[in-house]
Amino acid sequence: MAKVLIVAEHLDGKLNASTAKCVSAAQALSPEAIDIVVLAADPAAVATEAAQVAGVANVRTVANTANANAVAQILAPQIAKLADGYSHVFGPSTTFGKDLMPCVAALLGTAQVSDVMAIEGSHTFKRPIYAGNAIITVEAPADHVVVATVRTASWPEAAKGGNAAVEAASVEASLPTHTRYVGLAAGKSDRPDLQSARRVVSGGRGVGSEGNFKIVYDFADKLGAAVGASRAAVDAGYCPNEMQVGQTGKIIAPDLYVAIGISGAIQHLTGIKDAGTIVAINKDAEAPIFEIADIGLVGDLFTVLPELQAAL
Ligand code: FAD
Repeated sequence: MAKVLIVAEHLDGKLNASTAKCVSAAQALSPEAIDIVVLAADPAAVATEAAQVAGVANVRTVANTANANAVAQILAPQIAKLADGYSHVFGPSTTFGKDLMPCVAALLGTAQVSDVMAIEGSHTFKRPIYAGNAIITVEAPADHVVVATVRTASWPEAAKGGNAAVEAASVEASLPTHTRYVGLAAGKSDRPDLQSARRVVSGGRGVGSEGNFKIVYDFADKLGAAVGASRAAVDAGYCPNEMQVGQTGKIIAPDLYVAIGISGAIQHLTGIKDAGTIVAINKDAEAPIFEIADIGLVGDLFTVLPELQAAL
């Protein structure tokens, strides 16, 4: 029977919602147990949060100053050691997990299963390919631990209300010195996190300039939404790269997605396939975004948005 170890993603003492999504994926295996491991300088606060995720049996903590920052090359040898006794090791397919899990897989001598969107059996998984235009079924070797990243847009967060045991784990792993933490350059924003927000408002090339993007930010603030962008908007310098939604940006699954001045290229749509209601505002009635939008508004965004905002 399966026994799953999930690597907790966290920052500034807070558990990322992606971890509870990995728990949902693990539950689909009907495993004997699901454990979460928290590697940090001081894992206490994150472990307390992780213990409340329903369905988790044990939270294992590894307190080490070397774990103060999520450096894949430092975390991976510890996770590879802790994987002993588990049939599956899951991490989220966020930037954190995409960086870390291949290192874990390599140390365990196996190939990673990426972007798990459905579980067909203990070693059989579905995942998207070709920018989400096709789904393939992959089978992992039965004689190896399965190391996988979980496509967070495909799984809901497991409920809260759990009461897992928290225990300190001791790991004897030699940590490499060839990769070290230098610093974190991240944008600061009071808006909701793009990857976990329930509402997202995105602007595209149609917004026209960095200054014009204020109209998108204002509208998003009115809705309490996170702000995203198309790649064309990012490439044109209207907004930072971390806001990009799509194949080479963030894959998101908000309840509401509002696309403003975005044409609806396939690479953009890949990022919002799992969104609930999609609203498109575009002055071109033939724009492909209208083919997938639940609600389409044909009009000039500079007229439509202030009207909508006033109505809200
Ligand atoms: P455009 O296609 O130029 O569309 C702008 C839209 O704004 C038009 O439909 C226009 O009618 C409308 N508009 C203009 N003015 C107004 C106005 N005043 N009011 C209302 N509407 C207006 N793209 C992504 O977004 N994310 C990705 O991750 C991504 N990855 C890629 C990966 C690869 C390998 C490749 C090749 C491409 C990728 N792209 C990605 C780029 C993608 O193909 C498109 O070029 C891009 O999504 C277009 O962005 P856009 O819709 O903002 O711009």
